[in-house]
Amino acid sequence: MKLAARMSRIGTESAFEVLRRARALEAQGRSIIHLEIGEPDFETPRHVIDAGKAALDQGFTHYGPTQGLPELRASIAKYVSRTRGVEVSADRVTVVPGGKPMMYFPMLAVLEEGDEAIYPNPGFPIYESMIRFCGATPVPYSTVTTDSIVEKLTPKTRLIILNSPQNPTGSLMPVSEICALAEAIRDRDILVLSDEIYSRIYFGDEPLSIASLPGMLEKTIILDGFSKTYAMTGWRLGYGVLPEWLVEPVNLMIVNSTSCTASFTQRAGIAALEGPQDDVETMVMEFRRRRDAFCAGLNTLPGFRCPVPEGAFYAFPDIRGTGKSSKELADALLNDAGVACLSGAAFGANGEGYLRFSIANSFDNLTTAIDRMRAYFQ
Ligand code: PLP
Repeated sequence: MKLAARMSRIGTESAFEVLRRARALEAQGRSIIHLEIGEPDFETPRHVIDAGKAALDQGFTHYGPTQGLPELRASIAKYVSRTRGVEVSADRVTVVPGGKPMMYFPMLAVLEEGDEAIYPNPGFPIYESMIRFCGATPVPYSTVTTDSIVEKLTPKTRLIILNSPQNPTGSLMPVSEICALAEAIRDRDILVLSDEIYSRIYFGDEPLSIASLPGMLEKTIILDGFSKTYAMTGWRLGYGVLPEWLVEPVNLMIVNSTSCTASFTQRAGIAALEGPQDDVETMVMEFRRRRDAFCAGLNTLPGFRCPVPEGAFYAFPDIRGTGKSSKELADALLNDAGVACLSGAAFGANGEGYLRFSIANSFDNLTTAIDRMRAYFQ
């Protein structure tokens, strides 16, 4: 059977492939430290799990409204209004199964051949994959050098993707750059997809959402969700705050695919947003402790230079000093040192010369990973 031509343009996320290879080595008796997967190693907060269980007992086991449960959408609207400092109404909020569908649905709804979409590179691999899948032209901006997004704008620009705190670099987009971009596009017919999935995981300055600048809410999708902040990757719960004109088209995409998001997970989402936030604070403090020690350790390895990430839970060292390509070194560290990490090139061409380590593993394992890598280089 023949696949549709568009399938030749779709990409993937190599983290799952590296995980598969790491598991195969473990099956042979090898010890592997997993620093490849981007999910918090913490438990979902207990009160959130309890709310999910109670919801099952209360009968939240049927179809719900396409756009999400009204009570969760109201909670999200309150939460986003408070955290972004801009008034958001619940009718703009759409709940989806995870953060990713909030890329997939809007991009399918707005992008077509002839459009240009500006996206971060290195960046979350699904952006470039989806731009190509939709038939649009991907226009990368570098997140390891100081590329100006404004300089990439053309009359064909239809979409700009931002991600701050960023995966894989852990950097925050500077406020001056966000303001300059808002200034440049405020009066233009350009949509911004602001991926703020790491909005609560930062170690210094609070990230700024472009949507909070004057006139920008009307042209911005705020993508956020529960996967990272509340360690809920498996619950599949995310959302978007959409410009008014995009709400119905995205609802149509949902009706044509997932129908709705699981009702009991949405009830758990309310508990996450409205309940105690101590677990989030504890997790972020622990990520900071690991970040400090792990990046300091990486900087002692020959040929490594690791800037200190400002948010998310990744370290993204420049490894050009080792003389090896990203893939060569990632493969060698997996096979010879028992440390699984990702090649920077898996996040786009500009990621060549870098590796991505997830620090979502215990302090002890991160320390052992540094020791193993030091032994490998010796
Ligand atoms: N956006 C970024 C930048 C991510 O790194 C990830 C997950 O790794 C997602 C979105 C997807 O989140 P979810 O698991 O909720 O779909």
